Amino acid sequence: MAEPRLTIAIDGVVGSGKTATARQVAAALGYRHLDTGAMYRAVALAAMRAGIAPGDTGALATLVASLRLEFGPGATGNRVSLDGNDVTDDIRLPEISRRVGAYADVPLVRRALVTRQQELGRLGGVVAEGRDVGTVVFPRAELKVLMVADLAVRARRRQAELAAKGVTIDLDVLTQDIARRDQEDAERDYGGTGRPADLVVIDTTDLTLQGQVDAIVALARARGA
Ligand code: C5P
Repeated sequence: MAEPRLTIAIDGVVGSGKTATARQVAAALGYRHLDTGAMYRAVALAAMRAGIAPGDTGALATLVASLRLEFGPGATGNRVSLDGNDVTDDIRLPEISRRVGAYADVPLVRRALVTRQQELGRLGGVVAEGRDVGTVVFPRAELKVLMVADLAVRARRRQAELAAKGVTIDLDVLTQDIARRDQEDAERDYGGTGRPADLVVIDTTDLTLQGQVDAIVALARARGA
């Protein structure tokens, strides 16, 4: 009998390492990695480039309907392309991190992207990451994980990640930025109804990336992956 192809939903606070973790869990299990944050980031980038404000819902609706958003596997994870142009690095810039939330709050944007995510994950065998993946996108996911970590550790991780891309940012600025995004995320309505009863919370403060990956892979294996 073929192994069941589970749906794994990973949420995590800003800077908890959920993108890298989800990518490696997917690789370890031979599953597809669905980075929903990248989709919101790509929409925000496209809107900002086109000069469309989050409040301009008419123009946003047209943009979202016509956007060609593609995800392809690359050497170090998914490549994201927008209307044929690779935007993998652009969507991670701090400017996008600061403004993506305002676009992600727009209901028509959420509806369009959730529909797309559900299509991409329809057959299972997917590691989906993002705020609402365990509640709205895949409420029946067999494994739902929430990754948490101390603020100071998250700021240092994010600084190292940006430094590796040649972006230098002061630690205090990053700490404040992450704290502000925590606050915004806590106040934001992602359309779900609180925490799922079957959510597994993993504190990653003292874990290495490999440790986080191993913990989630073990949980998935225990569920038959
Ligand atoms: O996970 P990442 O930091 O890339 O997500 C960027 C932003 O996109 C989040 O801060 C949030 O505002 C938005 N987002 C969302 N719903 C998701 C994933 C991301 O609203 N499922």
